[in-house]
Amino acid sequence: MIDYNKTRILLEPNEIPKEWVNILPDLPVPMTPLINPMDGKPAPPELACAIFPKECVLQEISQDPLIPIPKELREIYAKSYRPTPLHRACGLEKELGIVGDDIKILFKNESVSPTGSHKPNTVLAQAYYSKRNGVSELITETGAGQWGSALSYGCNLFDIKCTVYMVRASFLQKPGRKILMRAFNGEVHASPSNLTDSGKIYFEKDPDHPGSLGIAISEAVEHSMRSDKSRYALGSVVNFVLLHQTIIGQEVKAQLNKIDIQPDVLIGCMGGGSNLGGLIIPFVRDKLQGKNPDIEIIGVEPRACPSVNKGTYRWDYGDSAKKAPILKMYTLGHNFIPSPIHSGGLRYHGMAPIISILSGKKIMSSVMHHQTEVITSGLMFAKTEGILPAPEAAHAIKEAVNQALIAKENNEKKNIVFCLSGHGFFDLLAYKEYMIGNLVDYELPSDEIQKALTAPDMPNVDETRF
Ligand SMILES: *Cc1c(COP(=O)(O)O)cnc(C)c1O
Repeated sequence: MIDYNKTRILLEPNEIPKEWVNILPDLPVPMTPLINPMDGKPAPPELACAIFPKECVLQEISQDPLIPIPKELREIYAKSYRPTPLHRACGLEKELGIVGDDIKILFKNESVSPTGSHKPNTVLAQAYYSKRNGVSELITETGAGQWGSALSYGCNLFDIKCTVYMVRASFLQKPGRKILMRAFNGEVHASPSNLTDSGKIYFEKDPDHPGSLGIAISEAVEHSMRSDKSRYALGSVVNFVLLHQTIIGQEVKAQLNKIDIQPDVLIGCMGGGSNLGGLIIPFVRDKLQGKNPDIEIIGVEPRACPSVNKGTYRWDYGDSAKKAPILKMYTLGHNFIPSPIHSGGLRYHGMAPIISILSGKKIMSSVMHHQTEVITSGLMFAKTEGILPAPEAAHAIKEAVNQALIAKENNEKKNIVFCLSGHGFFDLLAYKEYMIGNLVDYELPSDEIQKALTAPDMPNVDETRF
């Protein structure tokens, strides 16, 4: 008899965590500051507050181990989609020839959010604080559109205007997410646009310019600095976004407690590091405090954009336009342009400073997979679990499958937990190309990485000055 309470583990709305877990005070080394690209010095909070919502700036540098989630915000999470389920992947286990309870694969299902990914977890927090501070407009950029649609959804809920600069190539090729943004009242502009000085430089030369994430960031930042009532919204990488995502890991902990299971391995895909960070931080805190010393943590990157696996830990610009803060992180260089793989969310050149520190200190490890093997695992998951995963999330599935097969081979007992960061309903092109045999793998040549990392415009930050 299957005990369904052990295969689909749910929490009540009143079990939504009351605090976010801040890992900064427990890190083995102090967190590095955000550097102002204009003068190479740590950005003063006043400057950061002109760009981001004030509470987020305070959270970015807070040393409090737990930060309360406001009650109204918890109610909004509850009304919208949280807590999300934790599932035991029984179908996938069966497909892999795993019988009994020695090896378990479990996944946290963040695909049930209104826009189909974990991103609304931070959107709702950022929109909530913005509303409270009288901010009337949030502005951002988006590549493939996952972040833009999440922000449009959240802003609409709080009656805040949302403006999205969407890379023109995606704007034209991926109309689905653009329509979703507009359905939530988001104002979407193809970037480069003629609405900002940063965009006009390109737009006036070529109104069909395909754009880049770097240009779109410049447009969004410029737009957000125009008015005292508008702010820029960021979807990953920075500490406060990872903080908001810790709601994922805390729910997982409570859900595993309900079925009396301790995780042995935690797995997540890494673009900027926010869904992985959100899953692991509550467990990393225990690990750093000696409570679960043997837990293994694995971040998964695409072979086409392996920031931690192949990059260098150094100071670098957050964006190719050099307008965003400089961060100390694993990076492939802000000039690095990744191959056009389908996991748009994993094509960022850098990695969250928190994840970079945890990786550098060997508290976690990272692996890489090719997109064909990733999509193969994604389809296996769709057939066995009934959810077509986002190509990003399929990276985590591929690694969970590998871990389970190794454990089976070695007759080990292992509880494997991964984050299903999103569904793939807007990524059908990736699956179609796979089905017609058109999907290609990209491996990054090391001389290209070297070229991007030794570019003359890499920033020099003098750490002795702070
Ligand atoms: C954006 C996105 C990612 C990558 O971002 P992280 O900050 O690394 O989590 C992964 N999966 C999905 C579904 C996304 O939308």
